[in-house]
Amino acid sequence: MSTIEQLKQDNAEFQWHPMAHPAAMKKSKPDIVARGEGCWIWDVDGHKLLDGVGGLWASNLGHSATAVRDAIVAQLDELPFYNTFRGTSHPRAIELSAQLVKMMEPDGVASVMFSSGGSDAVETALKLARQYHKLRGEKDRFKFISLRQGYHGVHFGGMSVNGNTNFRRAYEPLLPGCFHIDTPWLYRNPYTNDPLELGEICAELLEREIVFQGPDTVAAFIAEPVQGAGGVIVPPANYWPLVRKICDKHGVLLIADEVVTGFGRTGHLFGTRLWGVTADLWCLAKGISSGYVPLGATAISAKVAQVFNDDKSGQAAVGHGYTYSAHPVAAAAALATLAQIQALDVPGNAGRVGAVMQERLRQLEKTCSFVGNVRGVGLMLGIEMVDDKATRTPMPRSSDIPARVAKEAYQRGLMVRISGPNLILSPPLVISLDEVNHLCDVLEASFAAVE
Ligand code: PLP
Repeated sequence: MSTIEQLKQDNAEFQWHPMAHPAAMKKSKPDIVARGEGCWIWDVDGHKLLDGVGGLWASNLGHSATAVRDAIVAQLDELPFYNTFRGTSHPRAIELSAQLVKMMEPDGVASVMFSSGGSDAVETALKLARQYHKLRGEKDRFKFISLRQGYHGVHFGGMSVNGNTNFRRAYEPLLPGCFHIDTPWLYRNPYTNDPLELGEICAELLEREIVFQGPDTVAAFIAEPVQGAGGVIVPPANYWPLVRKICDKHGVLLIADEVVTGFGRTGHLFGTRLWGVTADLWCLAKGISSGYVPLGATAISAKVAQVFNDDKSGQAAVGHGYTYSAHPVAAAAALATLAQIQALDVPGNAGRVGAVMQERLRQLEKTCSFVGNVRGVGLMLGIEMVDDKATRTPMPRSSDIPARVAKEAYQRGLMVRISGPNLILSPPLVISLDEVNHLCDVLEASFAAVE
């Protein structure tokens, strides 16, 4: 048996994959990615593909950012690992915290707490939110409100605020006190076709839920500035500003889960900036280190930090953290990534070439009989496939159409991601205009081939 055949067999035999049936790899051919360069990847069979997935919303600088690679190697030579518990630290963690706070100073960020990924960053934010209220003497504020279709990772807290039952059912019962409200989703809602009216209605749903629960019991509202995994759902422009006001009115913290939207994907450095608001806590990961080494971070606003810093009760020690919080190699990768984001104006590129991608692929709504809705902003885009365009009847789960489109794209040299009825695109943020046009050419041909 060839080495490649052995790899494929061992993959099916020994490895359980996230979000997959353990036996799935025995039945379907996995995409085994062996090499990357720029915005391109090669599978084990040597087939070259444009990376429309960006690793998984993560490889923002592409696969050969020399500056990040060099920083990682230098750090491995200097100090491969040390912890940051209690009185201990190391230079890269300190430099990264200072750099991040500087970048987020306009957003009112005062401090940052590191972890190892997005789910960790969410868990940290949820726990800090509860502790914040306890320190302020509001001990009953333990509940969380979140959006349907939202995705906040897979730990028990994040899973409990997740808005998709697929990720919850097998692990219930979850955290008590988590409530879900309708997401402002223009294509699918029972209320209105007018975006601003929808923004108002959905913001009002938040206020009604807070009042119904009792404002003095609600710790935080958590949401993604643009929902990613749920199908790239972009809220109306008035939604986040209204949400900010409602949270302030009722003393509820606003947690922005920017694991996907952080560091430029929407064309703005942070998704909250897209909406002109600030949060109280931000969850960051993925693009923070361009996926080169796992890292998560929770950014803490001055408002929240002050309550911890000023505490006299002795309860403000944060009883939370991970062995690999601010892992030196990850911190080095992140420092180099942040420098590149600024030097290359990565958000600016995402905005410019993203606008071309959005404009071109929106045409599929007109040209393809089974594309119901194309939506997104910057370099995040979702194409929702439907059973019936006129009635917006959802594509049945049993349909093979999404997988067939993805296969056509793969054969033409483009990696895409299918999530339910949605084809999701999140290419590296350094993708060029030529590459984006190529991506659109290939995708148009792939949809046409399945017509
Ligand atoms: N939050 C959001 C918005 C995400 O999209 C993700 C992952 O895709 C997470 C949290 C969880 O991140 P991780 O998979 O790094 O734990």
